[in-house]
Amino acid sequence: MHMNFSKTERIKRLPPYLFVELDRKKSEIQAKGVDVIDLGIGDPDLPTPDFVVDAMAKAIRNPKNHRYPSSQGSLAFRKAAVGFCRRRFGLDLDPETQVCACIGSKEAIGHFPIAFVESEDVVLVPSPGYPVYHIGTLFCGGISYFLPLLEENEFLPDISSIPGDVAEKAKIIWLNYPNNPTAACATSEFFRQVVDFAREYNIIVCHDAAYSEMCFDGYNAPSFLETPGAMDVGIEFHSMSKTYNMTGWRMGFAVGNPELVGALKQVKSNLDSGQFEAVEDASIVALESDQSFVKEMQAIYQGRRDVLVKGLRSLGLDAAMPRATFYVWIKVPEGFTSSSFSTLLLEKAGIVCTPGNGFGEPGEGFVRMALTVSEDRMQEVVERLSGIL
Ligand SMILES: *Cc1c(COP(=O)(O)O)cnc(C)c1O
Repeated sequence: MHMNFSKTERIKRLPPYLFVELDRKKSEIQAKGVDVIDLGIGDPDLPTPDFVVDAMAKAIRNPKNHRYPSSQGSLAFRKAAVGFCRRRFGLDLDPETQVCACIGSKEAIGHFPIAFVESEDVVLVPSPGYPVYHIGTLFCGGISYFLPLLEENEFLPDISSIPGDVAEKAKIIWLNYPNNPTAACATSEFFRQVVDFAREYNIIVCHDAAYSEMCFDGYNAPSFLETPGAMDVGIEFHSMSKTYNMTGWRMGFAVGNPELVGALKQVKSNLDSGQFEAVEDASIVALESDQSFVKEMQAIYQGRRDVLVKGLRSLGLDAAMPRATFYVWIKVPEGFTSSSFSTLLLEKAGIVCTPGNGFGEPGEGFVRMALTVSEDRMQEVVERLSGIL
């Protein structure tokens, strides 16, 4: 018997997975025995620090952790998140009402709109950008209005260019600084402009701060919530993933306006039962540590960045020196598209990078390379490139 299971519009409307073709080509080239260097994925190559793994090993034996966790996170975890935000950003947060744990920040980013986005509501989504902002909108039946991140605006959305009627219909604006994929950083002036805009049009500001701790040259990325008035309009998503090499552990937290955090808790308590509490216990140890591990990681990425960016520039490529994130956003040379350039690098040099248009059409003309291989391998990347360019 043939059943007729028809998928919803929201699933049918999902954008095609643009990396499928690149993945296929990568496997094909690897099968030929080529030593492929993969700079395509935003996933730290180094392990979680031992002190966190040790805390986890202990926590896993604690029977308290064998029962259902709280979906908003244990009070101890929420207090550790508050302490981290106080020491790092000077924020004054109430652990009862202004923090919610999440199963990796992606989970909360995807679920938060359920609380606020009705069918046909507009959500302001940066492009190029992390795909989940648009997907979360789609899943609620909302409409993404894309804000192009352009080089001439230093990859910040031009808030003044948003038409008034679009702003009137908008429920949420998504921001992500330090930015994936462009590696741009926000100025406090820009954040102030966003607060004014959000207040004028009654819009929720969702700030994705996944890369706040991945900074170089003494730069410390601000929290959006440090901006005067931001606590009235904002919620910020933090992640253990990139900061502590914990992508596999699935742990993050959201902080900010109590009404917004409360709404996220309401959604989550009806959908999931929280993260394994042993993971929360280990994360507390990471958040409360002296952050020397973070400094070590920053030094490692900075070394790799210097090798790559200097090498790319010596070959005549246009690559900005990122002050944060483990990405380098590179303009493709004359005569290439994002796709043709990344194909060339893969086929002729065995190097995987991500075509910029995979993050949204305004990313066309760029490729993204992740700083996820050692300095020696990065030197090899530069040598291979000099052989083909
Ligand atoms: C990696 C990343 C995240 C973090 O995702 P987790 O679910 O916390 O692992 C969030 N936003 C952006 C832009 C990212 O690149």
